[in-house]
Amino acid sequence: MNKGKKLYEGKAKILYEGPEKGTAIQHFKDDATAFNNQKKTIVEGKGVLNNRISEHILNNLNQIGIKTHLIKRLNMREQLVRLVSIYPVEFIVRNIATGSLTKKLGIPDGTILSKPLIEYSYKNDELGDPLIAREHILEFSWIPQAVHLDMINDYCFRINDFMQGMFRAVGIKLVDFKLEFGTVNINGKTEILLADEISPDTCRLWDVISEKKLDKDRFRKDLGNIIQAYQE
Ligand code: UDP
Repeated sequence: MNKGKKLYEGKAKILYEGPEKGTAIQHFKDDATAFNNQKKTIVEGKGVLNNRISEHILNNLNQIGIKTHLIKRLNMREQLVRLVSIYPVEFIVRNIATGSLTKKLGIPDGTILSKPLIEYSYKNDELGDPLIAREHILEFSWIPQAVHLDMINDYCFRINDFMQGMFRAVGIKLVDFKLEFGTVNINGKTEILLADEISPDTCRLWDVISEKKLDKDRFRKDLGNIIQAYQE
């Protein structure tokens, strides 16, 4: 499939114009970055795995009625997706306290939360994606309509329920993850779609028995064997 011009290059992916209006081609790179781009390397084969893993999860979410940007996987590194206008908000869903939650608030690492916790951060590299409140999102119209924010919160819980079950079934705990959403306009009506990717780059995944980390923390914390963990 012919790619159009490059629309955007991020840390782990490149977005090209797609073959038809309203479509794009999402290319998964092998670049790994952490701590707001301060730590970087190439992990050979990571893009291929994330492409497959994200395809699998988004296809399954489609089947339970969560609309996503994914149209189809094209090849080892590329997906055909719908071009959405991304809300500048990251939705972090947590089941177990770790990472920034433990650092910011002093909550002991590994604390099981009584119910899933949704946090928001403002997508802005210069500001280091700061943690924000629902009120900031509405005040600054990052998501202009409260009803849309409520819908996205509901999607986050449904996605979490589904993914927790899916990972549990293969002996993996879903600790936390990040989601991004965007909109498309269909006949004047705004439709919200899950976008970006869901992969070990955007989730924390621990082996149920050994608690071995099977996600990007292997890179962040120099634990090695990144590819083996992603394959697992
Ligand atoms: N996350 C992500 N992209 C980001 C920030 C966070 O994919 O820009 C994911 C991260 O991989 C983890 C979850 O969101 O699964 C929660 O991350 P946290 O807030 O603990 O931040 P971190 O410790 O990664 O700085």
